[in-house]
Amino acid sequence: MNTQSETFDGGCTCRFVRYRMASKPLIVHCCHCRWCQRESGASFALNALIEADRVQLLHGDVEVISTPSKSGNGQKIARCPKCRIAVWSNYYQAGEVIRFIRVGSLDEPDRLPPDIHIYTTTKQPWVVIPPGTPAVAELYSLRELWPKESLERMAQARAQKP
Ligand SMILES: [Zn+2]
Ligand SMILES: [Zn+2]
Repeated sequence: MNTQSETFDGGCTCRFVRYRMASKPLIVHCCHCRWCQRESGASFALNALIEADRVQLLHGDVEVISTPSKSGNGQKIARCPKCRIAVWSNYYQAGEVIRFIRVGSLDEPDRLPPDIHIYTTTKQPWVVIPPGTPAVAELYSLRELWPKESLERMAQARAQKP
C-alpha cells in the first residue's frame, strides 16, 4: 500500500469539528516537557506534524487561541468553538505551514505511535520508552533524525510560506 495515500480522520468530542489528514504525517512527536504535561493534564503530548495544506476541515470551524509556550513565542491552539477540545496547534518556530495534530483527537490514534520522544529530561518516571524508539533530552536536529522524504516535504512547505 502506498502510505502517502493513507488518510487519517479526527475531530473534537461534540463532533462539530471534523478534519482529515490527507497523508501520513512528517513525524510523530511524543513530548514530555512540563508545558505539554500541564496542557494535556497528563504525562505527555502526542503530536503528528503535517503540512497545513494537507489538513482538510470536513465539518465545523475552529477557534484559534494564543497560548503561552515553553519557547516564549507562544503557540496557537485550534479548538472546537462549542466543546473547546483542542485539535491542533501551530508553533512559532514551525510557522503557519506546519500543524501539530493532537493524535488523541484522531478516530484511530493507535495508527500513529511516536517516532521520537523529546524532552525526556522531564519525562515522568513511570513512563517507559520502548527500546528502539529514538529519545532525546530536549530538542533535536531534523536533518539527523527525519526521513529524507519528510525533509523534502518540509522544504516544500517552507518554500510556499508567504
Ligand atoms: Zn466540539
Ligand atoms: Zn512539550
